[in-house]
This record gives sequence, C-alpha cells and structure tokens, in this order.
Amino acid sequence: MMSTMRLSAAANTIARRLKPFGSSSKLPMTMASRSLSTAPKESLNDMQVVIDRYNPADTAANRLPNDALDRNALYETEETREMGGITASVHSNWTKQEIAEIYDLPFHELMYRASTVHRMYWDPSEVQQCTLLSIKTGGCTEDCSYCSQSTRHKTFVKPTPTMKVQEVLEAAARAKEAGSTRFCMGAAWRELGNKKNAFRHILEMVEGVNGMGLEVCCTLGMLTAEQAKQLKQAGLSAYNHNLDTSPEHYPNVITTRSYEDRLQTIANVRDAGIQVCCGGILGLGEEDNDRVGLLHVLATLPEHPESVPINALVSVEGTPLGEDDDIGKVDAFDMARMIATARVVMPRTLVRLSAGRMSFSEAEQFLMFQAGANSIFNGDKLLTTANPEFDADQAMFERFGFKGKPAHKGPLMAPSESSGQVHITHVTANEQQYA
Ligand code: SF4
Repeated sequence: MMSTMRLSAAANTIARRLKPFGSSSKLPMTMASRSLSTAPKESLNDMQVVIDRYNPADTAANRLPNDALDRNALYETEETREMGGITASVHSNWTKQEIAEIYDLPFHELMYRASTVHRMYWDPSEVQQCTLLSIKTGGCTEDCSYCSQSTRHKTFVKPTPTMKVQEVLEAAARAKEAGSTRFCMGAAWRELGNKKNAFRHILEMVEGVNGMGLEVCCTLGMLTAEQAKQLKQAGLSAYNHNLDTSPEHYPNVITTRSYEDRLQTIANVRDAGIQVCCGGILGLGEEDNDRVGLLHVLATLPEHPESVPINALVSVEGTPLGEDDDIGKVDAFDMARMIATARVVMPRTLVRLSAGRMSFSEAEQFLMFQAGANSIFNGDKLLTTANPEFDADQAMFERFGFKGKPAHKGPLMAPSESSGQVHITHVTANEQQYA
C-alpha cells in the first residue's frame, strides 16, 4: 500500500513541474474551513458578487479559452468571495482535517454552505448535459474491481473494435442536437500506448467534435506527455482520468497500476494545457475517511481539476464488487455529502453527478443539485451501464427549472477579474435576479 508520504512526494514533484496557481494558493484559510457559527455578521447589502455575462450569440471572444493554461491565467487575481455569511476561495492548501470538518458538518449546515458557495461561483439554474460514448468497449487488461470491461472479470460485456471516425462524429452531432454541450469519448484501454492507427483516428474524432463547437473530452487510459500535446493540438478540451478513491484504499480496488501512475497522467494532461476531469466512485467498500482522502488529493493539486465527476457504484454481476452484498450501498445522502464537500473545497470546479443516477429518484437527484452538482450525463447508456432515458431527464430539467450550460461557459468571475478579457457585470448578493 502506498504511504501518504510517498503520495505527497509524487504530488510535489508534479507540482514543481506545473505552473503555479497564481496567488490563490497564498490565500488565507477562509470561512470555508471554519465553523459556520464563527461567520462574520455582514449586511447582505454590502456584499457583491460578479457574474459572467455570457452571450451565446456573440463571438468566441465571450467564451473562456479552450486552453486550460490561458483559461486559468484569467483567475490569477482570484479573491475571496462572500455571500450570506459564507466565505469561499479557490486555494490548494487544504488540510485533510479541514476537509473532514466540512464533510462531517450537520447535513443541513453542509447543504446551506455548499448551496451558497455554488451560487457565488456558478449560475445555479445551469446544469451541463454531457454525452459519454464508448468508442472501444471491453477487453481491457486492467483489474479495476468495479468494471465490467476488464478481461479479468466474466461479465456480459463482449469486446468490440474501435468505432469508425464517421460513426463517432454522427453520434456527436446527435448528442449536440439533443442538448449536450460536451462530448466525451471513452476507450477501455490501460493506456493509449503504441496504438498508432487508433490514435490517428482519435485525433480526427477530437478535431471533428471540436469543430462542432462542443467541448470535447477523452478517457483513454494512461497518456504520455507527447500524446497529451497531440490531443491538445487536435482541439481536446479536457481529459478524464479518475483517481476513484483515496490513496490508502486504492490498492484494494485496483492492483495493475498505481496512484502515482494516475497522478502522472493528470500532470501530463495539465502540462499540455488540457483541462483535467478527475473524480471518484462511492460504494467501493471505502470509509468516510477515504472519501475525504480523495477530496483532499484533488483539492490540493496545484490547480484544481476543472471537472470532478462523482459516481455511485453500479455493481455488475461478474465483477468482484458485483458479488459482495456489503459493498455498493450508497444512498442519496452519501452522494449529496460528497458533492457538497467537493463544491465547498473546489468552488470553481464543475461537479458532475455521473454514474449511478438510475438508483436515485428525482427528489434524491434534486438534493445532489442543491449540494452543488452542475452536470449530468444524458443518454440511456453510460459506457456499459444503464442511465435515465433522455426524455425523463428533459422532463426533470423542466420540473426543476434548469437549463443547459453552453459549451465553454465558465464559472462566475471575481471583481478583480474585470480586466476586459471576459465580460462581467456586478450584482448585489441580495438581488434575486442576476443581471
Ligand atoms: S475502469 Fe477503465 S482501466 Fe479499469 S478495467 Fe475498466 S476500462 Fe479498464
């Protein structure tokens, strides 16, 4: 089992190679890490937040850059934000204890804090719809104990060849038509490795999907720095590579690659200027301490992932975790607590309510949106597992008053960022309506 010390060393090595996160890492510890009862009593009239005045009809000038380095440069003067007695900031010097204190808050306090932080950084009526397409299913040599696509488990999944470029582009066009603004392509590989032909086709897919105006994401296993650069040049917006759980629990779930391997790919992605999508799965037999541990790793990366998917295990017959009745019991409160804590410690990150939605009622999913989730995956299949029907999700959006988040629309901007690089407007926190 990897020690925390070894992990820190790996993360520090990676941190040294990465661009520093502006001034945000020097910010003082904020209310987000203190008890709510110590919140300063400030007049709502004195508080200001700033929102991104995004105009989808306007040119690309109104959109955040696809390049993650350019994008993050916009936030170098990020400030602490305050609303409703809650203070938050984006910083990477969280201690595990501070995150545990937030995670352990009474549920109603945690939800209030997370909802408030959510409103400071995001338009709460916007939820991004994403589509995940499996472009190469099954036959993976890794031993992830939750996965139906591993060759080491006898499941219903039959390996298929990689999809053709044209088929993928047609699927992306249908996803766009259905309201998705992000298209993710997944291949069941340990690593991209030396798959030259397949990689050439993937670069064409990325180029094509990017050309449709969609955010384009891939999840292809481990990547080298050079492969990351080529994906970036083809127009990749984001790369998904999940850490799944805490460093301590990880070896109980996967033995064929290490936590350091994962962090290295994440660093390669970050170095190439690609946004990072990295999250985890609840229901892997982990303890609360492991859930906090995963959030601690993510929230102390030199730059927070722009996207953190939170999944509930969908147990599949034939996988080690599909055969243990004591494992995989995740309820809506577990999910909401995890999402809310992620929202508080990584305010500017899109938190994605991902696999496992079929296990939760709409009321339970609403709890998760209130906790700060602002993205779902649509379509009736998520890689190999069931997902709600498209029409059911549209009806849910209508019932909750949600609208889809446009592609490349970022989080709300801070007052000090009114440099003309993005269009912003000031609104007072007690105004009900955003400008
Ligand atoms: S989760 Fe990914 S890497 Fe692990 S076995 Fe499944 S396809 Fe392979």
